[in-house]
Amino acid sequence: MRKSVKAVALVLATVMLTACGSKADTNQTNDTAVSAQPQKTEERATVEQSASDAQEAVPETNDTLTFGTNAEFPPFEYVASSGVIDQYDGIDMAIAKNIAEANGMTAAIENMEFDSLLIALQNGQIDAAIAGMTVTEDRKEEADFSTTYYTATQVMIVKEDSDIASAADMADKKICVIQGYTGEICVKNLGYPYEAFKKGTDAIMELVNGKCDVVVIDSATAQKYVLDNQGLKIVEDASAFESEEYAIAVKKGNTELLDKINKAIETMLADGTVAEISAQYIETISAE
Ligand code: GLN
Repeated sequence: MRKSVKAVALVLATVMLTACGSKADTNQTNDTAVSAQPQKTEERATVEQSASDAQEAVPETNDTLTFGTNAEFPPFEYVASSGVIDQYDGIDMAIAKNIAEANGMTAAIENMEFDSLLIALQNGQIDAAIAGMTVTEDRKEEADFSTTYYTATQVMIVKEDSDIASAADMADKKICVIQGYTGEICVKNLGYPYEAFKKGTDAIMELVNGKCDVVVIDSATAQKYVLDNQGLKIVEDASAFESEEYAIAVKKGNTELLDKINKAIETMLADGTVAEISAQYIETISAE
């Protein structure tokens, strides 16, 4: 009896780890993208220059590579007056553009709900999904994932005067998450009740208006929301939230496209392009 209880506990713990993003299922870590220091403005030109160099080296085919995203996740994807791909701007959009150009293709964006991305891949509406998407065991059953390009973690956004100092402190608080994000999976696994919103900005409004006590969301996006809204702060808890790896998803079995994407990502990780793009957008967004 005692043994089976232990076994169940172990299984639950394993599920929790994999569901909250894990170190075990990743093929590459790129901590530099996270910790890169802000770069000077000229660096943006260097990034764009290397993209156009890559374009020159590969014959133009005029093929379009359609990426699905959910442009509600700054600094990775958001709508701007003029973005890197049409009106879409952010780290992921710059990476998508580079990947397409490295393969002599043009990047196009289909903006949709985060929850619809893997379905859109399956039905061929998009070629790839790039959306700050964490690789999880569940998602790996629905899609194939590229080499990972960014390391993040879930954090808690609270009011500056909040007494929440750890994930356990959320137990008797009103928690807001975004539907389908790994933050929702983590809170669910912690066993706390929560309310799920369709957009990060909607959850933040609840917090700002005092209708909820804490929003659980990815680290870089949390930083952006805290910068944009007075009176908020970030609380981290590394023991409750593991690091997560972002990757690009393709339809299961589409190894031809996955190989192209992986080659381009690996080049961009090795030559510092991903770190430059990340630093540039994090700096741009902080300076706004
Ligand atoms: N990294 C989180 C996830 O994969 C959030 C991604 C997003 O909102 N774009 O669920």
